[in-house]
Amino acid sequence: MKKDNTTMRAFKQYNSYNPKYFPLFFLHTIFRNVSFYYSLWMSAEIVSGIYEGLEMRELYVLTAAALAGILLIRSLSAILDRQVETALEILEIHEAEAFYRKTLGLDYDKMENPHIRQIRSKIDENKRINSYGVVNMRYSVETLMDCLVNLAFSASLFAEMLSAMAVVPFSRTALILLAGLVTSIAAGIFFRIRGGKKGTLFWDSIGRKMMDENRILQGFHPSGTDNRIYRQQPLIDCLYEKCNREHKKAFMDTAHKIFCFIVVPGSVFSWLTKGFSYLIVCCYSTLGAFPVGSVIKYVGYMERMTESIQTLLGIFGSFQENEKFLADYLNFFDIENDMYQGSLAVEKRSDKQFEISFRNVSLRYQGSSDFALKNISLNLRSGERVAVVGMNGSGKTTFVKLLCRLYDPTEGEIIMNDFNIRKYDYRQYLNLFSVVFQDYNLLAVPLGNNISCDASWDKEKAEGLLEEVGFGKRYREMPKGLETPIYRNFDTDGVEISGGEAQKIALARALYRDTPFIILDEPTAALDPIAEAEIYAKFDEIAGDKTTIYISHRLSSCRLCDRILVFHEGRIVQSGTHRELLADDTGKYYEMWHAQAQYYA
Ligand code: ADP
Repeated sequence: MKKDNTTMRAFKQYNSYNPKYFPLFFLHTIFRNVSFYYSLWMSAEIVSGIYEGLEMRELYVLTAAALAGILLIRSLSAILDRQVETALEILEIHEAEAFYRKTLGLDYDKMENPHIRQIRSKIDENKRINSYGVVNMRYSVETLMDCLVNLAFSASLFAEMLSAMAVVPFSRTALILLAGLVTSIAAGIFFRIRGGKKGTLFWDSIGRKMMDENRILQGFHPSGTDNRIYRQQPLIDCLYEKCNREHKKAFMDTAHKIFCFIVVPGSVFSWLTKGFSYLIVCCYSTLGAFPVGSVIKYVGYMERMTESIQTLLGIFGSFQENEKFLADYLNFFDIENDMYQGSLAVEKRSDKQFEISFRNVSLRYQGSSDFALKNISLNLRSGERVAVVGMNGSGKTTFVKLLCRLYDPTEGEIIMNDFNIRKYDYRQYLNLFSVVFQDYNLLAVPLGNNISCDASWDKEKAEGLLEEVGFGKRYREMPKGLETPIYRNFDTDGVEISGGEAQKIALARALYRDTPFIILDEPTAALDPIAEAEIYAKFDEIAGDKTTIYISHRLSSCRLCDRILVFHEGRIVQSGTHRELLADDTGKYYEMWHAQAQYYA
């Protein structure tokens, strides 16, 4: 990507989210300027009229024309204003949508990649906290349009003033005043450009401070239970202080420099520009170049014109400063998925006969030197109940992620009904699985939507499943039934649910999809022992002919499975029924079983 194309590329992409916005903004800018220049022009006419002794009736007509014109222009401008606001809202919604769609559309391994996560959160934070990136680009484009329209109006009226001035002979006083005006404009431009650069530094340092503060706060749970119990306030204060210390110096230095070397001289030259403008216009007015009323309008035009030139020159610096943020934005959109997407249709089998084999499968996560899984070979028979056990970090979740093709193996292959799973249509392959991961999420929407993962739901089926997973009693207490919102984030009539209840809903959601495979990663960790026992007693019946994989730390709950796979340091070290595995008193399973059994004893 060529660097000088960054802003243009970003603008094209941003503009495509609502191509109506910028033309509407441009039109609105023209109206705003017409309104300003027309008011100035009419005021000058009225003052000149009074000065030249126009009759009262003529003055009334002139004033009425001025007011009617202003009213008309302002009304049209107000209508446009609403259109511009709506267009901006649409643009921002589409932009946010595109960003989230891109995120959701990324291959899972890309989304897990720390580098990509960092780019994503940088874009998000820069936008929210500093308004850098596309928001800054929008401000700059708007300012640019405003300057150009202003310049077009003020320059044509300035030309009119110059032609009036050319009538009277050029004097030495006029020359001195003109030299003063040009110098003060040039100095103003210089300070505006420098101010732009220093200002960016200043806001950058404020933004970075806010980002760091934001990260500190995000580390603490919003409900604040730990904060209260462990009295974490001193820790928060200490982190804040560290963050403040680091930013304070840069912040104060820049603020001081900006005030002394930019704000003060900038204001002085701005007033000098205005003063010279008045003096020149008054000088020519006394020499008879134009009537006294024109002093108001010509000073107004000159002021606008010099301001526009100064802003225009400053704006290019701001485009440049923003380029690195736009590059991050574009880089994120440029990330391409490279997971192979097959086109083979997954057979629709009502008998759920899908057999999956792992053949010498290994996986090494990106950036890791060690394999998380090494040489896994096994067959998953249709309708089988498989338990996966092992210590933390032994590779159980990684095994499930490979099975669901969230990752592709680094080595080896996974075959389903004679074909490598990479060959199948990805969506269709994913549709074979229902998984309750340990970090499952329920949404702050009605219970029915949570279970069906859709806009509507099958009431009978959802209620039946809630009953089966042991949520029946709690469900019947909910006055709005499946319409009851989960959590109170957005609805005051929502219900708060415990960890165990959430897990039951997640189980019902997995079963609702009615897929051939159901995978439960620590499915009962948050359940009380009675609820757990009830679910295990029933689960075999609920799961029916589905192939079921449980990852569990509670070995007692795996006893009834057809097969138990014991994972250790990324390998399957044992496989068999509970009875077979327990018979090997040198095996890992025996060791784990007896380690747990001693607590029960
Ligand atoms: P288990 O489910 O048995 O607790 P995991 O499958 O979650 O184990 O993890 C196996 C190994 O892979 C661990 O060493 C873990 O730190 C590592 N691991 C898991 N996820 C990632 C990841 N996204 N990136 C790098 N390493 C990972």
